[in-house]
Amino acid sequence: MARKPFIAGNWKMNMTAESGKELIAQLKPLVKEAKCNVALCVPAILIPAMVKAAKGSKIKIGAQNVHFAKSGAYTGEISADMLKEYGVKYVIIGHSERRQYFGETDETVNKRTLFALENELTPIVCVGETLSERENGETEKVLLKQLTVGLNGVTDVTKLVIAYEPVWAIGTGKTATDEQAQETIKYIRNTLGKIFGVKNANRVIIQYGGSMNAQNCKGLMAQPDIDGGLIGGASLKPDFATIVNFDK
Ligand code: PEP
Repeated sequence: MARKPFIAGNWKMNMTAESGKELIAQLKPLVKEAKCNVALCVPAILIPAMVKAAKGSKIKIGAQNVHFAKSGAYTGEISADMLKEYGVKYVIIGHSERRQYFGETDETVNKRTLFALENELTPIVCVGETLSERENGETEKVLLKQLTVGLNGVTDVTKLVIAYEPVWAIGTGKTATDEQAQETIKYIRNTLGKIFGVKNANRVIIQYGGSMNAQNCKGLMAQPDIDGGLIGGASLKPDFATIVNFDK
């Protein structure tokens, strides 16, 4: 079965309700004919306004995190019910910035992923190596751990999305080459095949993320195992539409 490409933006801690609405209004006509799935993962407080702004378009609004408890004393966190109330479908889990600055671990990624799946949200699970790990030849070892621990207990892997984001490429303007991205994503798919079976692994959407932009998207998207992109900086501009329309 062919995998439908999926381009998702990650606004991180950027935009306001006003600037967000303006950008979505600009994007709407530009992505009207998109053949891929499109999402913008926005700061939690902007979700209601952006859902309203994106209504009737191809753009689905996603979140950047979800907690693993139904509710409770977890100040600053957001629950699956809160997201679902606004029709949110996608949620980024384990972004390297959360791992680096907010104590996210493979174990908490696992808990969030299982809870998101239980609640019929589609997790975009982020994995990727740091520069020193790549230089020390540890990329595969790191990815293997992130995948085996992060996805432990998942029963249907086709219900989630993996974003391969080499940490050294995020926000640095330094993109992985088409070959590096393909080779590593192929490794991820093979690993998923060993854990969940080849047939299931071949159905999983795997995105590349890390300084992907309107210029380099075509080459990356032409790779056989790359099914989409998780886009940070370039999702803050109308240029995002060029990435969504990579096949034009
Ligand atoms: C990201 O935040 O997931 C990302 C890939 O950022 P950028 O595109 O800015 O490198």
